[in-house]
Amino acid sequence: ARAALKTAGSGPGRTKDGVGIQLLANVGKVEDAERAAKEDVEGVGLFRTEVLFLDSATAPSVEQQIKAYSRVFSAFGDRKVVIRTLDAGADKPLAFAPSDEEENPALGVRGLRMDKKYPQLLADQLEAIAQAAKETGTKPWVMAPMVSTVHEAESFEAQVKAQGLPVGGIMIEVPAAALRGRHLIEKVDFFSIGTNDLTQYAMATDRMAGELAELLDPWQPAVLDLIAYAGEAGQGAGKPVGVCGEAARDPLLALVLVGLGITSLSMAPNGVPAVRFALARTDLAECQAMAAAARDAVDAASARAAVEALVDPEV
Ligand code: PEP
Ligand code: MG
Repeated sequence: ARAALKTAGSGPGRTKDGVGIQLLANVGKVEDAERAAKEDVEGVGLFRTEVLFLDSATAPSVEQQIKAYSRVFSAFGDRKVVIRTLDAGADKPLAFAPSDEEENPALGVRGLRMDKKYPQLLADQLEAIAQAAKETGTKPWVMAPMVSTVHEAESFEAQVKAQGLPVGGIMIEVPAAALRGRHLIEKVDFFSIGTNDLTQYAMATDRMAGELAELLDPWQPAVLDLIAYAGEAGQGAGKPVGVCGEAARDPLLALVLVGLGITSLSMAPNGVPAVRFALARTDLAECQAMAAAARDAVDAASARAAVEALVDPEV
């Protein structure tokens, strides 16, 4: 009964005092997206397009991409869809965009950095997204992974707008980008924080290294500080800042994220009900107090304990 209570409720995400926090789905394959569209979610916060092409030996044609993106856009209709350009390299190698031998692939040519090596890939992808948007009458939000500098943000945004796509943004998953959020946000329409990579890079801990799980924890106060900088940048500019990493599906951490200025949370769809419930039990001011307590803590375990002491016991 308690588990059922903890996931009760439906509809858009809202704090107890009525502040809207969009609850969105992370999707990869087209079928996942079509399944997610039937769930009680407000849209897609992260469409990982590289997942579509992990098994492709050759680069997908523009036509092939238009088909796949159109299916996802039309499945969600009027709901928001945030589509991410190819995040190839490191843990997600694509056969048609091979990297050179790299000592440290996670620090190498991956995500938007591939654009220098294979400019046609991004050009084709943005063209396909624009065409799919046109054919389905939708307005997808387009974002780039692994952005580190103002210049990268600016050049990506220019390419998005050149295709006539109205909304462009960047992922915040490199600490430098979070620290300089105030400057990056001026160049784009939104941020989406990828806590998986942001934690990896902030803590200098390989996201695949199971034995380092204690370090690879988004409750680490250093990670929370970086998220806070990105959140403050968004609030200062009046632009949305979402989270689309695994952290978003931890209900307690979701409250902290909202307290740090996050305006949407994207996760595997089965995580949404528990987060919706936690939000509905908590005022924004309480989220802010939890965020402050977590940032004051000296480590991840005490950050979580500090928030547990403040949270409604039902959550
Ligand atoms: C992240 O890094 O948190 C993220 C959402 O992107 P991915 O997990 O696909 O790298
Ligand atoms: Mg990432």
